[in-house]
Amino acid sequence: MMDTVIIKFHELALKGKNRPMFIRRLSRNLKQAVRGTGVKQVWLGHMLVGMTMAEGADWPEISQRIRDCFGVAKFFPAHKVGLDLNEVKALLPSELRQRRFESFRITAHRSDKRFPMRSYDINRDLGAFVQEQTGAAVKLKNPDLEIFLDVQHDGILVYFDEVRGYGGMPVGVSGTTMALLSGGIDSPVAAWYMMKRGSISKFVHFHSHPLVDTSSIEKATELTQMLTRYQYNSELYLVPFAKIQQQIIVSVPPSYRVVLYRRFMVRIAEALARKHDAAALVTGESLAQVASQTLDNITVIDEVAQMPILRPLIGFNKNEIIDVSQEIGTYPVSILPDQDCCSLFVPKHPVIHSNIKTVNKLEAVLPIDDMVAAALEQVELKRFSFPEG
Ligand code: ATP
Ligand code: MG
Repeated sequence: MMDTVIIKFHELALKGKNRPMFIRRLSRNLKQAVRGTGVKQVWLGHMLVGMTMAEGADWPEISQRIRDCFGVAKFFPAHKVGLDLNEVKALLPSELRQRRFESFRITAHRSDKRFPMRSYDINRDLGAFVQEQTGAAVKLKNPDLEIFLDVQHDGILVYFDEVRGYGGMPVGVSGTTMALLSGGIDSPVAAWYMMKRGSISKFVHFHSHPLVDTSSIEKATELTQMLTRYQYNSELYLVPFAKIQQQIIVSVPPSYRVVLYRRFMVRIAEALARKHDAAALVTGESLAQVASQTLDNITVIDEVAQMPILRPLIGFNKNEIIDVSQEIGTYPVSILPDQDCCSLFVPKHPVIHSNIKTVNKLEAVLPIDDMVAAALEQVELKRFSFPEG
């Protein structure tokens, strides 16, 4: 039984003095990720994080949880044997019988240099053994099978099969952002990419209940729970938006309403970000995907923000975004029908090239600060954690 997991990260991500912080956060996140799955211990090795599993641990589940932990480049289920190559040789035949390969290499590394054989000698010794057992040829470049050995102070780790993670940075090392989460396909993917680079996402969702049903709230809630799998704790701020929309439609012509809705969303999201220690906003916009996402409209929307609005999907095609949303699990929820606040009181063809002068004129008659303050008073907070319970 494989009782150990070897987890590796990209060394390039680890420049200088950030390394200890990075590794500490990664191991803390991994500990949280595998709670309740039968992992006995998470420990630090030389440029790796290890896990020791209890007997009967749920490997498929553990593997999935590790894969979803950002900062993990790749990982391997491993055997741990004593500090003796004969123990490795006792283990290999049954493992090798389960695998088909015509070429192989041994890649040994001594984390503990007190072990009497050098890596080179381990490679040769075990290489000859495997050749004799299987008839396979040694091939250093692109072998069918790579057999890894890591000699540690208290035993030798032996492993074969690489599982790839997403890489990136451990969530928590890159600050906090406030992601504008609709019920749609794009914004959960945008938030996921920000988490992948190590930032914690807080979420804000604007809804038009009671003018419409609660379907968008339910979707935003479910999407937040799904994304919490990647960052372990989340906050979702639900903001009633119907009143603001009603105030806008009184004086603003239909073609400009979406742009004004967005400007109000940004104002409110930014106020929430400041209050809850987030340093940037995140949206799921991609250039020219819909009318509100032209450069002109993005310019007019950005004009109300003091903090950066990050748009990780700006250069993505829709089909690429869909692929990622399927990969990360949010797609089936995103495509459920909902009553989205932004489709209320807006024409099929909103303005494509809004201009700031017109927008300022339209907003001049609105009590902007009061509208924002009133919405902020009605905000509802939901908290999420993973693993649940
Ligand atoms: P999505 O698939 O994320 O809904 P979309 O392609 O439908 O995006 P828009 O409706 O133009 O695009 O929304 C652009 C972005 O504005 C969204 O990605 C999201 O970040 C934000 N947004 C839109 N509606 C809401 C909402 N009701 N609550 C919070 N954020 C929203
Ligand atoms: Mg949408």
